[in-house]
Amino acid sequence: MIDLASIHVFIWALGLTLIFIVIILSIGLVKKNHELRKYKMFEIHYQSLIEHNPNVVWTVDTQGKIVHVNPKAMELLKYEKEQFLSKSFFSFFHEKDRKKAEKKFFHLLDEDRTYFDAFIQDAENKWVPMLITLVPIIIHGKMTGAFVFARDKSEVVEHKNRIKKAQMDLIHTIQKQQGMTFKYVKMGDQFIHTLCEGELVEKLGLSSSKVVGKPLHGLLPREEADAKLPAYKKAWDGEVTSFEAYVNGIYIYVTLSPVFQEGQVVEVIGSGIDITKRKLIEREMIQAKEEAVKANLAKSEFLSNMSHELRTPLNAILGFSQLLEVQESLTEQQRFFVKEILKGGRHLLELINEILDLSRIEAGQLKISSQMVNIQTIIEECINLVAPVAVTKGIYITNERSFSGNQNVYVDPTRLKQILLNLLENAIKYNKENGDIFITYECKENFLYVHIQDTGMGIPSEAQEKIFTPFFRLEHPQIEGTGMGLSLVKQLIQLMGGQVGVNSNLGMGSDFWISLPLAHPSQKISLPDNENKRIVSPIHKTVTILYIEDDPSNLLLVTEILKESHDVTLHLAQTGLAGLEMANQQRYDLILLDLNLPDMNGFHVMDKLKENDRTAAIPVIALSSNAMKEDLNRAIKHGFSDYLIKPIDISCFLSILLKYLE
Ligand code: ADP
Repeated sequence: MIDLASIHVFIWALGLTLIFIVIILSIGLVKKNHELRKYKMFEIHYQSLIEHNPNVVWTVDTQGKIVHVNPKAMELLKYEKEQFLSKSFFSFFHEKDRKKAEKKFFHLLDEDRTYFDAFIQDAENKWVPMLITLVPIIIHGKMTGAFVFARDKSEVVEHKNRIKKAQMDLIHTIQKQQGMTFKYVKMGDQFIHTLCEGELVEKLGLSSSKVVGKPLHGLLPREEADAKLPAYKKAWDGEVTSFEAYVNGIYIYVTLSPVFQEGQVVEVIGSGIDITKRKLIEREMIQAKEEAVKANLAKSEFLSNMSHELRTPLNAILGFSQLLEVQESLTEQQRFFVKEILKGGRHLLELINEILDLSRIEAGQLKISSQMVNIQTIIEECINLVAPVAVTKGIYITNERSFSGNQNVYVDPTRLKQILLNLLENAIKYNKENGDIFITYECKENFLYVHIQDTGMGIPSEAQEKIFTPFFRLEHPQIEGTGMGLSLVKQLIQLMGGQVGVNSNLGMGSDFWISLPLAHPSQKISLPDNENKRIVSPIHKTVTILYIEDDPSNLLLVTEILKESHDVTLHLAQTGLAGLEMANQQRYDLILLDLNLPDMNGFHVMDKLKENDRTAAIPVIALSSNAMKEDLNRAIKHGFSDYLIKPIDISCFLSILLKYLE
């Protein structure tokens, strides 16, 4: 019997079971709903992924027919949706890419790489470069279709093309350059070339293919390569290095520049240029310089010889006229003539000295003395010197003697005379017959300006600067000249702190001016030597002098100079040997020795005198026409007591003799 309690339990159990079933069913329902919602969400995501994809996306069936297409495909390829649908996606590919695409698609499950490049034709028949990616759609292990993603590569391709073009341009430029560019890297312990281009490569008998991949020693002869290796190493150590090389008859200049990456040298770029022409010019210049030095030496030698040759006859002219000058028996007119001879002779001597000066100026060795002098004194002296020539041309010289300004200048009087004489001589030379010369003065800012104005041919304006350069002359073959005068004037005046210039009108005349520093009132004026006051006083000492000299007129001159010195006995020898013999036989107080003797030179005679105990202590004075400083220094070094340059100045000669006879 079924009791009530059992029925209750049964109902209770049934109720519970039902509740449980309801709960289970509810949970299942909720889960299914959730799955459904999830699935829907997934579909939305998937659609969004396709619809908003920045690439072309086609969904295709197993044969490659397009079943779905995204908006990007229409935007990029410019087709309508219908133009895509149910068409094989291969049909949009360039025919050269089509086979590749088919192969990839039909072996999609076997292929590792499912992407490739291809050109796709758009609606405007333009070929768009694209990167294609194929993704299979697999359901229950079976491929039911595929997604075809196509990414536009136009920009990348364009960019690549641009880079390629730039690279080609660069290589072309490097190839077309006159020089050469190369690179090398270090591999093991060798430097291997990685680039070598440029026109010079071929000239050197090389080529890019011969160089690239080769080490230095694979290109150059061993010795050459050994010589360049240190530079290669140095550049690899990080230092910009350069060197010169001679390859195949061509001189090249090479610079090596290291390229750094994160502080490490990763390669070295080298550049080479052809310096053969420069080398040749350099060589020519060295040769020209050597020749110029030689020519300069020859010039100095010439000047020294010329000076020597002119001094010898001048010694007689000046010496004898100095002797004549002091003769009591002369008439006034004769005395005037002698003075003129002396003046002219001394001027000639000055000119010779000036020629020597020219070479000294060039060598920067000319010394300028400065003293206060009155310009009028010097001008008058110069006018007197040039007046005879001016008279022959009927030229009248007017000097502004009445100038009331300061006329005292601080200059080297000899040099100033030289300058003024040059300008005056030119003013006569380049003047017309019966022309005029005006000498005027003006004081401006501590300078006295002296103008020498002529009425001659004038100078064209384009030549007015040039006339101050050495050896420049205008075309006038009938007028003699060397073209040296004005350049000497310019250099001398500059040494004295002044300037020279010219204002000239063609056919009207020229105004040459010089500026001279004005003397300060406190400076003492030096008066020119009064030649009449020169005292030629005889030597009052009982002495015996030996004069070794071959030139009869020089012998006669010294004899005449010493004639009044009654206590002096003069012995003459005309050769070195004769002189040495006489010096050995008799005791002399002084020896005068000419340096250019016919049988032996004066230095040799001097050596012999010094070797002999009997003569070693006798003072020996050199008498020579060699006026170069080097000659003088050489003689003093050689043991001569003094050195007298011909032509002899009598008072100077006598005072030097006295000095050694004391
Ligand atoms: P030189 O008179 O020996 O030729 P200079 O150096 O004194 O050399 O002068 C250089 C040139 O300047 C002369 O050849 C001449 O052409 C020109 N010159 C110089 N002085 C005058 C002048 N007063 N008038 C015209 N031309 C002049």
